[in-house]
Amino acid sequence: MELIFEVSKAGRSAVEVPQSDVPEVNIEKVIGKKYLRDNLDLPEVAEVDLVRHYTNLSRRNFGVDLGFYPLGSCTMKYNPKVNENAAALPGFTGLHPYAAEAMAQGSLQLLYEMQQMLSEIFGMAQFTLQPAAGAHGELTGVMMIKKYFERKGEKRHRILIPDAAHGTNPASSALCGFEAVTLHSNNEGGVDIEHLKSLMTEDVAALMLTNPNTLGLFERNIEEVSRIVHGKGGLLYGDGANANAFLGIARPGDIGFDVIQLNLHKTFSTPHGGGGPGSGPVGVGKAMVDFLPVPRIVKTADGYQLADKFPDSIGRVKAFYGNFNVVVKAYAYIRSLGAAGLKHATEMAVLNANYIKERLKPYFDLPFDRVCMHECVISGSRQVAESGVHTSDIAKRLIDFGYHPPTIYFPMIVQEAMMIEPTETESKETLDTFCDAMIAIAGEARENPQRLHDAPLSTEVSRLDEVLAARKPDVCWKK
Ligand SMILES: *Cc1c(COP(=O)(O)O)cnc(C)c1O
Repeated sequence: MELIFEVSKAGRSAVEVPQSDVPEVNIEKVIGKKYLRDNLDLPEVAEVDLVRHYTNLSRRNFGVDLGFYPLGSCTMKYNPKVNENAAALPGFTGLHPYAAEAMAQGSLQLLYEMQQMLSEIFGMAQFTLQPAAGAHGELTGVMMIKKYFERKGEKRHRILIPDAAHGTNPASSALCGFEAVTLHSNNEGGVDIEHLKSLMTEDVAALMLTNPNTLGLFERNIEEVSRIVHGKGGLLYGDGANANAFLGIARPGDIGFDVIQLNLHKTFSTPHGGGGPGSGPVGVGKAMVDFLPVPRIVKTADGYQLADKFPDSIGRVKAFYGNFNVVVKAYAYIRSLGAAGLKHATEMAVLNANYIKERLKPYFDLPFDRVCMHECVISGSRQVAESGVHTSDIAKRLIDFGYHPPTIYFPMIVQEAMMIEPTETESKETLDTFCDAMIAIAGEARENPQRLHDAPLSTEVSRLDEVLAARKPDVCWKK
């Protein structure tokens, strides 16, 4: 495919700039010669070339609007277009970030109501909507934990993190100066209680727990875990990226979580991928409210306000007020589903994951044969032993069948892991055709392993050097 620069022909244009209706100014005088740029080497193309270029580019990509996208832990559910319509309302898109509070009452009300709804859904005392993504929410949560112990005058240096956790958990802890200590899983895929007891000392600030964890398994001993952590004065942090498994069914606040971050771009159906934008609200219990970032949105007799006089706050974590448009989409999602709808979505997500697990069980290893939550983790170990086909080969072959591969080689405690998250939005027909593809691939692994090593066979390019592409991306165009 030609680059847009190669399509360019001098003098062509896709836009007609309207006549100026304000007096001309000499820009050089305003900003100085130093900052003037001319002779920019920009592509010049007609509208039709422009549209074709970007449409063709988009067809080389894969998205949830194109097909099934069972990327475990990422919750790639279909994003209803009504959310987009809401976010595109001119009152939202045209709002200037510096608009006076009096002129932004509707948007502030939306943010306020979103905080209230999330507090209710998750059983927390208060939420901030500022963080820009899950990892940013984790960082915000751990900063609050740090401040909480500083205010209590307690020196705690460690945070416990299960070996199944997402890599952002230890990273967020380390960024706040904590030592991340690995907590083992037991043979049921849950927290090893004896190990927790041995690690949980008065030097531990918190346990960061994902529940259900990244194996898609609900922590059976969660109440005991909570007792052990709180018994030593520690806090229970919940990584809420897997909230799609319990909306309307269980509330982290009731279970004993003191801090939790959400991923609106996963659970609450706002589009994500390719680096953003996301939104990672953080909810806290009563004891932590004072530490929330500022500004906080408060409701007064005079309307909604951005308040920043909270002396114990960790301060600001994001310019303006978070990724507002993402919050609008998530708000529309919650309002259009309602309480019963959210619960039903969760039930379907769990049912769909268990359906896939049961259909694939005879063909792949299942490291933990338990009822799973919103995702299931299977293993390609049998295929490695029988025919030298690896999980990465299976993933690449799935592309030929028209599917985005599941998350692979994560969680790291499962060899040859494939983490499949169908989400609630997929029909039984889609689940069946996906399972048929997986079963066909398991057959190919035995009969024609070379085809799997060569896959994908249907794409523009086949196997790329993924490490090089991630570490040294070459995205510049040079003549
Ligand atoms: C996605 C995810 C995160 C990180 O969220 P981002 O929005 O990508 O920063 C953290 N923990 C778990 C379990 C996740 O699935």
